Amino acid sequence: MNADLFLAVVVALVGVVLARAVVAEADAHRLRGSDLWWNPPCPTCGDDLNVFLSKCRGNRHRQRAMNVLVLIALPVLLVLLAFGAPTGWVVPAYVAFGFMAGVLTVTDIDTQLIPNRILVPGTLACGLSLVIGGLFASMPGAVVRALLAGITYFVVMFVLALVAKGALGYGDVKLAFPLGMFVGFVSWSHLGVAVVGAFLLGGLVSVLLLITRRVRRTDAIAFGPFMVAGAVASIVFGSAFLDWYRG
Ligand SMILES: [Zn+2]
Repeated sequence: MNADLFLAVVVALVGVVLARAVVAEADAHRLRGSDLWWNPPCPTCGDDLNVFLSKCRGNRHRQRAMNVLVLIALPVLLVLLAFGAPTGWVVPAYVAFGFMAGVLTVTDIDTQLIPNRILVPGTLACGLSLVIGGLFASMPGAVVRALLAGITYFVVMFVLALVAKGALGYGDVKLAFPLGMFVGFVSWSHLGVAVVGAFLLGGLVSVLLLITRRVRRTDAIAFGPFMVAGAVASIVFGSAFLDWYRG
């Protein structure tokens, strides 16, 4: 088997397994405010879910559409990130980062909170594996840039949160650090694409939701998912975009 295809298949299978953990953790947060990293129970009867996470086994209670979306989207996300990783040494770090980003995106959409007890250990584990992988790949410059980019994105969001008074949560500020690291490991230009992309996407979706009256002007909209989308899009498509932009 071709090495790229092999990598894609392995990472996609990892994604299918981890999707179960994302749903378990998201449901635990949404419904009980506690942590649960494996085997999500049916919120109605507590029974195990089927392999597609769409119904429970015992009573066939239909689960929310988010479960199947996670099961499809997470493997795709992890494969894209594995191929977006600048060197093979950091593929595990980028896959772990995709998993953390997936969990935080779903919990942020559900509860508009980015829990520290996921963000802090997740950032430590992902960040450490990025640093170690980067050093093994003899890319100390990229490792330093990743740390500086994480701090830069964090400071940008911190200043915006101070200015915007309540419109941006401090969860989004903290999330900026790991996002900045993984985008910054690629390049500074990619960080620019990620930040601008997050605000363009967030603004566009907010306007659409206002126009379609899905939200009122005073409602808070979770911004974390747009930051994650901007960062992932930049890691995966940023080089192609920058080539096009620079002519
Ligand atoms: Zn059930």
